[in-house]
Amino acid sequence: MKKPTPRAVTTLVIFALAVWALNVDLPKPWLDAPHPLEIDSLQAASGDSDSLAATSDTLHSGETIGALLSRRGVSSSAMSKVMGAASGLDARRIPAGMPVTVRSDSTGAAPREIVFQLAPDRLLHVRRTGDSTWTSNEERLPWVTDTLVVSGRIDENLYQALDDSATILPKGARAELAWTLADIFEYRVDMSRELQPGDQFRVLFERMIGSAGQTKIGRVLAARMVLSGTTTETVRFDQGDGRAAYFDATGRSMQAAFLRAPLAFRRISSVFGLRKHPILGIWRQHQGTDYVANAGTPVRTIGDGVVNFAGTKGGYGNLIEIRHRSGLVTRYGHLRAFASGIRAGRVVTIGQTIGYVGMTGLATGPHLHFELLVDGTQKDPATALKKSAGAPLAAADRPRFDAQLTILLASLGKAQA
Ligand SMILES: [Zn+2]
Repeated sequence: MKKPTPRAVTTLVIFALAVWALNVDLPKPWLDAPHPLEIDSLQAASGDSDSLAATSDTLHSGETIGALLSRRGVSSSAMSKVMGAASGLDARRIPAGMPVTVRSDSTGAAPREIVFQLAPDRLLHVRRTGDSTWTSNEERLPWVTDTLVVSGRIDENLYQALDDSATILPKGARAELAWTLADIFEYRVDMSRELQPGDQFRVLFERMIGSAGQTKIGRVLAARMVLSGTTTETVRFDQGDGRAAYFDATGRSMQAAFLRAPLAFRRISSVFGLRKHPILGIWRQHQGTDYVANAGTPVRTIGDGVVNFAGTKGGYGNLIEIRHRSGLVTRYGHLRAFASGIRAGRVVTIGQTIGYVGMTGLATGPHLHFELLVDGTQKDPATALKKSAGAPLAAADRPRFDAQLTILLASLGKAQA
């Protein structure tokens, strides 16, 4: 079947000065890079790097750093000093393909500086400061942040919708944005089950661009989802002390006592689509909800509670039953394995991994069987968990929140007709 073309898909760059003004006081860890003046002074202290003869190399698969440096003319006597100075270098975590630059005063001369690119935005400089003294310092390359709005229509799932509409972003960043959005709504919406074709999303977020052109998703500042005709808007609110959280437009927290799904959307989005409802069961009598997922996908408790049962039980296979407050009980079946330490009597906290998706018991493929019971009766999680909506904002925060809400929703803008 041909996939419908997303309608009303717009991608806008917003130079929202108001948004920038709001963000001034919030922490920006990616701007921890040295001040440009400090970079200049470091380079001045060690000589102008550009005037050195430089050779670039990458760590080969299975190669040690020592072997690479040796290939690049670092003597065995210098080697131990280089490695000693390179305190930021964890040899066990260095991936093959790491770029390494070796600089000398002239071609063929003994190396004077070695630069390890630990990450796209992290360089480790190891420099020879005398004849045989080596020192190191780590440089964080600055990221540039701008603010974008992406919106679209959901035809298959949120992951697919972002992939189709956020074409301004590289593919990996589109997925990250979908997952971040799902995380913000994960106490309100089960993104893997409750979306309908025609639902809509709109999101205001920060895009961070690194010095090498790489892109990642910063903070989501505001979002709107229209699900089955019901609109939910949320904004990020700085509560002071560096704490920030998401609240809906009425000032209620987007967090609540229960998660809406026992699997994180980011773990299953690649195998799930609205139109795909594979037949999993030969276990016809059972009630509950089946989540398709790869075997081994972590299963989390949807709320705080105490493990009632962790063992094998008939068609459920490996089953965990958790008792929560207010007469709620949840069950997680067909598990391949339990997380370590999970047994009857164990206290668990919301979101904690309790087991892993499998196909034990009566199951024809890997999936999670999930049940929610209230006072011993099966309930639809979508309705039973509505009551556990988030706590309202403190009254003292209200005026500041209202001001921020107005600005962020204006920056988010309206859907295009
Ligand atoms: Zn089931």
